[in-house]
Amino acid sequence: MELMPDFALHRPTEIEEAVKLRNETEGALYVAGGTDMIVNVRRGIEQPAALIDLSAVKELQEIVEDDEGLHIGAGVTLETVSQDARVLKDFAAVAEAAAAVAGPTHQAYGTVGGNLCLDTRCLFYNQSEWWRKSNDYCLKKSGTVCHVAPGGKRCFAAFSGDVAPAALVHNASVDLVGPNGRRRIPLADIYKNDGMDHLALEPGELIAVLHLPNSEAGLPSTYEKARVRGSIDFPLAGAAVWVKQSDGKLDELRIALTAVNPYPHLVKGLEKFSGAKLDEAVLDEIAEMVQSQAKPMRTTTVKPWYRRRVIGAIARRLTKQLTATA
Ligand SMILES: Cc1cc2nc3c(=O)[nH]c(=O)nc-3n(C[C@H](O)[C@H](O)[C@H](O)COP(=O)(O)OP(=O)(O)OC[C@H]3O[C@@H](n4cnc5c(N)ncnc54)[C@H](O)[C@@H]3O)c2cc1C
Ligand code: SF4
Repeated sequence: MELMPDFALHRPTEIEEAVKLRNETEGALYVAGGTDMIVNVRRGIEQPAALIDLSAVKELQEIVEDDEGLHIGAGVTLETVSQDARVLKDFAAVAEAAAAVAGPTHQAYGTVGGNLCLDTRCLFYNQSEWWRKSNDYCLKKSGTVCHVAPGGKRCFAAFSGDVAPAALVHNASVDLVGPNGRRRIPLADIYKNDGMDHLALEPGELIAVLHLPNSEAGLPSTYEKARVRGSIDFPLAGAAVWVKQSDGKLDELRIALTAVNPYPHLVKGLEKFSGAKLDEAVLDEIAEMVQSQAKPMRTTTVKPWYRRRVIGAIARRLTKQLTATA
């Protein structure tokens, strides 16, 4: 790690002020809890001229409940989300995912917005400046070659946030605020399949609120991840599952994956299981479908084939567990 470089720090109290500062200050970036950003600054991965600290923006710190659902400010900490009674009751996967991020100290500072906007990760990228320099850097920053897929021009760094897949199975949307005003879009639409540039936000846009709709609240959901160190680690593979059943048959199944693609992936094609009775053969088919849509690459010390098998196994087990208890 390098020493902290010089940069200006702004601490606005209104969203519009934050957006204005971000857009009018060359080289400015947002920081929330700082648990990822500060590490990246000290590794020389990010070199901001200024940081716009969002932690004093009051609107971002609130959880509001109304007829539509639960609206979680982007600045709410993961600790708060994981302990919120309404999240625990109606959006269990989201509470479990927040509680699975890193360790307790990260959860005390890390925020929902920072987690949803987490940069993609790779073994060859999340390293110190001297380590990356000695490898001639890589395509994602300062280099010309991808060490994971040297022949290509794509970056396969994996999105490894825990909260996004859990929010995706709950049909979440987000409010974005930027220089052109405020808009609400499905959470899935903020992500792109590009490890180098994985967020589809407009320049200077920030996430203000995560919306979890009431329409499907309270149905069983859960989240689990595999990681090297159980006490504090990014997912090597993570899956969130949500089910709706009636008369012992599946009405709808949603599964979303993290850490196995450059974006959190909502598994496609699961509607074919609507009306199915979930026996072992169907569960095997679900696991295979999950495995085929997970595209882990050599971006962690753990082999891709293992992560692909693990993601199928987690999704299969969670689906079985949820449908048995529903
Ligand atoms: C040792 C270690 C282990 C970790 N393990 C995990 C893990 O298991 N799972 C996991 O998901 N993460 C993990 N992290 C990463 C990080 O701690 C969490 O993702 C955390 O939730 C990030 O939130 P933050 O508020 O600290 O974000 P910050 O570090 O402040 O910001 C992260 C990124 O989001 C942007 N950003 C922040 N808020 C907004 C907003 N409202 N709108 C738009 N952009 C925004 C920032 O500009 C930055 O690019 C780990 C980090 C460390 C150091
Ligand atoms: S996938 Fe390739 S380009 Fe992307 S961070 Fe890793 S080595 Fe760099």
